[in-house]
Amino acid sequence: MEKIKSFAANNLSFYRTTHHFERYSEFHSIEEFGEYCNWAKANNVKLYILGNGSNTLFVKKNITTLILKNSIPKSIVPLSESKVEVSSSTLAMDVLKYCYDNCLSSFYFLASVPATIGGALAMNAGKGKKHSITIYDFVESVTFFDFENNSLKTLVKEEIVKGYRETIFTGIHSRLILSAIFKFDQIYFDKNPIATRLKWSKEFQDYSRPNCGSVFKEGHLGISQKLSWLKIGKTNFSFKTQNWLLNKSSSHVPIVILINIVKILHILSQRKAILEVISVE
Ligand SMILES: Cc1cc2nc3c(=O)[nH]c(=O)nc-3n(C[C@H](O)[C@H](O)[C@H](O)COP(=O)(O)OP(=O)(O)OC[C@H]3O[C@@H](n4cnc5c(N)ncnc54)[C@H](O)[C@@H]3O)c2cc1C
Repeated sequence: MEKIKSFAANNLSFYRTTHHFERYSEFHSIEEFGEYCNWAKANNVKLYILGNGSNTLFVKKNITTLILKNSIPKSIVPLSESKVEVSSSTLAMDVLKYCYDNCLSSFYFLASVPATIGGALAMNAGKGKKHSITIYDFVESVTFFDFENNSLKTLVKEEIVKGYRETIFTGIHSRLILSAIFKFDQIYFDKNPIATRLKWSKEFQDYSRPNCGSVFKEGHLGISQKLSWLKIGKTNFSFKTQNWLLNKSSSHVPIVILINIVKILHILSQRKAILEVISVE
């Protein structure tokens, strides 16, 4: 396909590692997405739907997966005083600004998360395990295109969420989230909740180097923090923020080594470690 490009870049993942992408393109409609899916199937190539890349880890120098950036039009459409339909390419922050301007409750805990709505819905993005509050607390329904059945489907949250940071979309690239209907309550603010969250995040989260937030969604997270002394090149686990891996290297290799060390330590102590970041080859 002519529209598929090959180039080197460091801006497709928030780890900012440099890779040669053999196959990259952007889709602007379901039809275009379908064309790429057909091409990938016919050529036996894996595909990956890219939102904003804030939970994406590229694990090879040469990436052969077809990377498809979600470039459908961004939109926030009010359906009533409390309901809005948001397209999946819209940034979570844009929804929060809309909610604040309209005195609506929202997932303000995601103000520190550089996600698209599609990425946040696919990942069941939320506030952290002990808080058990996620974007789905505000979701009425999600509409997606299912390439396997060539159909549009709308499901409610009970049919979508599978667990902590896991949905029927996580790691599945034949289902493209198109939009979601959110329900928010009218609310009075005495403080700006976006500014409050950003202030909290600046104080407690480590932004000293590029990162994708939490690395593991399950495991003994203290292990990674205890390893923060171990620096490989310009990469190490954060001392300040448990389970965050900070990277300044252009290579993905130090990240992969550190993740594997944590996995091995889990195996040795008979514990389970499950990655939250999505690996792409
Ligand atoms: C500084 C920082 C802080 C963070 N804090 C948090 C936090 O507090 N809570 C939290 O949950 N996460 C957090 N994260 C992780 C990350 O931001 C979330 O997982 C986010 O939801 C990913 O969104 P994205 O658009 O960047 O997705 P991407 O990284 O682009 O993709 C992630 C997954 O979603 C899939 N996907 C993306 N768009 C679609 C679509 N339209 N249809 C189907 N599948 C799709 C991708 O294929 C992939 O499997 C943080 C990350 C950073 C960098």
